[in-house]
Amino acid sequence: MPRKSTAPLTERTLYLPKMAEGARCLAAAFRHLGCKAEVMPTYTNAGLEFGKKHTSGKECFPCIVTTGDMFDVIDQHMATGANVNDSLAFFMPETEGPCRFGQYTRLHRILLDKYKYVNVPILSPSSEDSYRFSGYFNDDQAIEFRKLAWQSIVYADLIEKALWRIRPYEKIKGKTDRVFEETMQAGIAAIEAGGGLQLIKAAKKAANAFASIERTHESKPLIGIVGEIFVRTHKESNQQLVRVLEDLGCETYTSSVAEWVEYTTHTGIEDAKEAFRRKKSLGNIGETAKFWLTAKYQRLVASFISQPFARLLKERFDHSTEHILEETEHIFSNHINGEAILSIGGALAFAKEGYNGVVNSMPFTCMPSTIASAILKVHMRSKAPFVDMIYDGSIMPNRETNLATFAFQARQNLEKHGRKA
Ligand code: SF4
Repeated sequence: MPRKSTAPLTERTLYLPKMAEGARCLAAAFRHLGCKAEVMPTYTNAGLEFGKKHTSGKECFPCIVTTGDMFDVIDQHMATGANVNDSLAFFMPETEGPCRFGQYTRLHRILLDKYKYVNVPILSPSSEDSYRFSGYFNDDQAIEFRKLAWQSIVYADLIEKALWRIRPYEKIKGKTDRVFEETMQAGIAAIEAGGGLQLIKAAKKAANAFASIERTHESKPLIGIVGEIFVRTHKESNQQLVRVLEDLGCETYTSSVAEWVEYTTHTGIEDAKEAFRRKKSLGNIGETAKFWLTAKYQRLVASFISQPFARLLKERFDHSTEHILEETEHIFSNHINGEAILSIGGALAFAKEGYNGVVNSMPFTCMPSTIASAILKVHMRSKAPFVDMIYDGSIMPNRETNLATFAFQARQNLEKHGRKA
């Protein structure tokens, strides 16, 4: 739970963990509401060392990384003589799912208290309210933030998809990364100004900028990446998985952050409906309606922002939650909430759509990813090459060998079966 702080949130700098590139857009959404928000520098040696020193080895790797990042920020502020207790706040979402994500903030709180940063608050919106940030802002601000946060996620996901779509074929090396950075900055400015039409305009410009990059017409194996959301989208933790695959001659597509938010909204609707079945109250009707409207809003906004990318990204759009649940219908029950079902359904959908291979990117000992791995090893057999890539911060030479073997199999799959456009 957030602590009572001695300084209001608006007087503090709110630090967000860097997960996907979209963290920068999310920080811009906070800034629109008047918070000073920044993305934490990440994955420094000092931070990793601190994280490992203060954990027992049983904690999840993303927890170790984010703990280190937080204390790195504190160290930097201490070095300037700032009063950390009154000048900082941290943002760390959580979930009630069947895994340990809900425990990260507990450990962070224990460590902040231990080092006497008892007044530094942690904002931890939860998947239980589909990250509606209830309680942190007044009601109007919370609604505005929730809308802007969704727009931020959709925009950032889109330009990252465009990056993965174009970069493997660019004729001028580095051009796509430059366009990505320019379009990211344009998106950040539009979000800080309130999103909406301005963000749609930025999306149009971004789609045109990516489409105008000169490309070769090679045919490369197309690889789908599923797995635990932090490690699959945090380039530092997954040791540049996308880059390594691109260097091995592949094109990649990583399941998006929006896919997870959509799933939590869907779960919210199902839970609210179940609560209504058990107790027919106005409150439960209202809760169902709230989630239902959230889902409708999300789809509508996503379709507006993504429209300019329709040609460029063709079928490379998110799997809907319904699609994922269909794929897993006879394999895995959605009563076990969490990421496993998204990885299983996502991988099977990729295989059905003609992807030439699937990578399950996961932290060492991750519970949902281990379940997904066990099921996918059986169900991906004879469908498409499949590999688990497990990360814990250590550098292992056989990791690249594994990926090179996988890329070879994916190329064979391409030669035999072709690929989607
Ligand atoms: S998904 Fe995996 S890594 Fe993430 S909190 Fe759950 S168990 Fe840990």
